[in-house]
Amino acid sequence: MTTPDAATPSNFISTIIKEDIKANKNNGQVVTRFPPEPNGYLHIGHAKSICLNFGLAKDFDGRCHLRFDDTNPSKEEVEYINSIKQDVAWLGFEWGEHLYFASDYFGQLYDYAVELIKRGKAYVCDLDAAKIREYRGTLTEPGKNSPYRDRSVEDSLDLFVRMRDGEFEDGSRVLRAKIDMASGNLNMRDPVLYRISKVAHHRTGDDWCIYPMYDFAHGLSDSIEGITHSICTLEFEDHRPLYDWFLDELEVDCHPQQIEFARLNLSYMVMSKRKLLQLVNGGFMSGWDDPRMPTISGLRRRGYTPESIRNFCERIGVAKRDSVVDIALLEFSIREDLNKRAPRVMGVLNPIKVVIENYPEDLVEELDAINNPEDPGAGTRKIPFSRELYIEKEDFMEDPPKKFFRLAPGREIRLRYGYFITCKDVVKDDSTGEIIELRCSYDPATRGGNSPDGRKVKATLHWVSATHAINAEVRLYDNLFTVENPALQKDGADFKECLNPNSLKVLTSCKLEPSLAGATPGSLFQFERLGYFCVDPVDSNNKSPVFNRTVTLRDTWARIQKGKKK
Ligand code: ATP
Ligand code: MG
Repeated sequence: MTTPDAATPSNFISTIIKEDIKANKNNGQVVTRFPPEPNGYLHIGHAKSICLNFGLAKDFDGRCHLRFDDTNPSKEEVEYINSIKQDVAWLGFEWGEHLYFASDYFGQLYDYAVELIKRGKAYVCDLDAAKIREYRGTLTEPGKNSPYRDRSVEDSLDLFVRMRDGEFEDGSRVLRAKIDMASGNLNMRDPVLYRISKVAHHRTGDDWCIYPMYDFAHGLSDSIEGITHSICTLEFEDHRPLYDWFLDELEVDCHPQQIEFARLNLSYMVMSKRKLLQLVNGGFMSGWDDPRMPTISGLRRRGYTPESIRNFCERIGVAKRDSVVDIALLEFSIREDLNKRAPRVMGVLNPIKVVIENYPEDLVEELDAINNPEDPGAGTRKIPFSRELYIEKEDFMEDPPKKFFRLAPGREIRLRYGYFITCKDVVKDDSTGEIIELRCSYDPATRGGNSPDGRKVKATLHWVSATHAINAEVRLYDNLFTVENPALQKDGADFKECLNPNSLKVLTSCKLEPSLAGATPGSLFQFERLGYFCVDPVDSNNKSPVFNRTVTLRDTWARIQKGKKK
């Protein structure tokens, strides 16, 4: 597990770009792109790439394109395109007029393919997929030439036109580059450039029944758009010779430089869209925006802010070697942000009733509470105090062990912003023995939580007034997986087998202070002592809000850092 150093985010890519600008390469211009395939929702790994590409463009006064790599119509949906645009914008990045689709270039890409055939650098191959694989060889054995490799240029041109015109069945023929079947790099063994697929495309409809392959379309799309630095993840390192080959053979004017960086992996999480899709389709998650998902939409619904995600991406830096980032660092980033901005409120998740016997029956006092000690400008609010209150069940023990300092029979504690109270009696259900009520007394001299005689108490508890509290559902989350790297299971076990059965806990009888009535969906609060919470924008309504716990108050990241320094 690597633990990137927040103070020095390394970015070897900006160093390369600085050198390029110094050498006046690309006339000193910087044009990057973020090229998602619209086959799923974006995740936090994509956020790393977005922050990097848009960030570099911003740092160097360049521009960053948003380009949909929509070359695979069978797996793509308009829903994904819309969600991707929404997520990039929400993260705080603007593509302006530079929104593109690889499908915009289908005509030009086709012409490039024809040009390669004419130059003797591509041919139509009639082998089926299985045979192509067989002929391809392995890492230790060279491949074999296809029997169609030496087909004449005229024949290939004729067949390619007829492929385009829909004369042949799916899978019956492909167009391949003519490179080197003995190359040590498998990507260079006559890769497929075009396949037949009689599937309608969400933008080009039935115009095409042949579609370009990723490697062919990607680099040429970069070139068409005048991209200067084509930044991608490490798995494309072995594709770089092919990326360059197309641009060299076609002698295009713009030859972008491909630079690879390590993808983001998070502990206790999976990150591939294919796996996330399985979680959604298999009903393991409520949707792509389930607050347990590492998707941008899931994180947003959970209560993550764009600032926290951008800060996280900055902290992890950009490296050339794959690593796993501790999920505690992501949580640290949102805790740090919300500590500054989230108003403090009180809410009781597992309520138990407290009756203050010496408090007048019909008295209600409005007590002053501080909205955010980190932000004096946030001011104060009034919270009602009355004879019947709720406190947290786990803040009381009838028979407390030595280190339990909260409420217990005969013991005095402070109610935050309220009074000192002492527990006098415990009322139980006769049949079950369950505690249903605590009978307490209060000291009127301790209003506001201060004792005039300097008397000390060892605990300050949160509470709400029973008659004034609003009811709410609260959802608590834990890691989605029980193991650090779910994608790497022994003996090929399925990653879904290590889903954490306790990743979601729903509490339906929570009591919250009345100021939270009508809280805006998506708004964020600190429930004192319990963590940061977000009003769920999907399931909340005015009558009964639903709160997602974004993160607890426990800074596990600081603990990990401290442990390392020892
Ligand atoms: P996945 O493996 O999750 O399906 P992908 O790479 O197929 O992701 P694309 O839509 O092709 O998804 O990715 C768009 C861009 O985001 C690419 O440039 C890709 O390199 C980058 N990207 C994807 N996953 C990560 C990640 N975990 N960390 C950093 N960048 C990523
Ligand atoms: Mg991909």
